[in-house]
Amino acid sequence: MSYQSGRQLVQLPGPTNVPERVLRALSRPTIDHRGPEFALLGLEVLEGLKEVFQTSGKVVVFPSSGSGAWEAALTNTLSPGDKILMFEIGQFSALWIEMAGKLGLDVDVVQSDWRHGVDPLVVEAKLREDREHKFKAVCVVHNETSSGVTSAVAPVREAINRANHPALLLVDAISSLASIDFRHDEWGVDVTISGSQKGLMLPPGLGFNAISEKALAASKTARLPRSYWEWQPMLTQNASGLFPYTPATNLLYGLKESLQMLREEGLQNVFARHQRHGEATRRAVQAWNLENVALNPKEYSNSVTAIYVPAGQSADAFRKVVLDRFNMPLGTGLGKLQNKVFRIGHLGDFNDLMLAGTLSGVEMGLEIAGIPHRKGGITAALDYLTASFKEAQSMAHV
Ligand SMILES: *Cc1c(COP(=O)(O)O)cnc(C)c1O
Repeated sequence: MSYQSGRQLVQLPGPTNVPERVLRALSRPTIDHRGPEFALLGLEVLEGLKEVFQTSGKVVVFPSSGSGAWEAALTNTLSPGDKILMFEIGQFSALWIEMAGKLGLDVDVVQSDWRHGVDPLVVEAKLREDREHKFKAVCVVHNETSSGVTSAVAPVREAINRANHPALLLVDAISSLASIDFRHDEWGVDVTISGSQKGLMLPPGLGFNAISEKALAASKTARLPRSYWEWQPMLTQNASGLFPYTPATNLLYGLKESLQMLREEGLQNVFARHQRHGEATRRAVQAWNLENVALNPKEYSNSVTAIYVPAGQSADAFRKVVLDRFNMPLGTGLGKLQNKVFRIGHLGDFNDLMLAGTLSGVEMGLEIAGIPHRKGGITAALDYLTASFKEAQSMAHV
């Protein structure tokens, strides 16, 4: 491949752009993970993670992808043959469902058109019918990264409570943590699953479980086989900042830095920034006269937008044009959205001009690839960004 000048904009919904500060932190020499210096680092990041999960409970860290953290959540809380309720709202939820089946769980799958989120009324109806309390868990993907649909989690917990049902609530917040408001404690989530390579602005390689007291209690009797993923040895060692096996030391240096950056910006400001970039992207999509996969405006994702190309067009050919010409990888259509959809990630270490560059690459790419569209997406997005900035500024002066 020939040299491509300038910086590459990684506009995937994960992995996301890794900021310089994090890259520099990652490059420090690896230390002894059984020594006192490491223990301080361990204690610091384990404590800091609680802020981003919005929990006062325990968060454990695995050297793994997000999928590993899915497996940890299931195997620590459930037993072979346990019935669980899952919603196939996109490719990631489909993969989690597939994993649950492979692990020997009895999954009741609620299907959807992949354009809507989890319906709390369905949760309530299913659990009310289940008088014998056969369902042991309800599993929800908060932000379905394949479709750009964000499901409201609090109403799912309310539905479980209204049905007066003891099922655990397990939530995948892999592409929402540190980009879309997520509240482990307040929303009554039992296990939150996440990963490093999305809102946390790190390379891939860390998986997380935030664990409620109820989930911890369930882990004492859960019988699915687990060893690498077992919470208890983690929690025991974590008490002194250490790990039961070799942790991803350098990624933890990066995590310390990214937690510090999130603290400097302020989580509420991080969420507001993502909301603003999500809205600007949607304005561009509308101006282009293209179609958002997500149908319900209340469920629009602020970290990723999935966009249909018009029928008969190839989303993959379009993505190739953008990659070859502008050195910008866009997210591919996954599962049944393959070649029909491209995705713009607008999460992580991101600002107005990076979004402007991203949308410019998309708009020029649409033209070059011959995808029917209207012009003016960039202008619509920039007008919104400008107006919302001026509005915020005038509010600040009141
Ligand atoms: C990225 C992602 C995953 C998968 O994470 P891996 O790190 O690739 O295993 C799962 N769920 C959601 C919602 C994701 O966005």
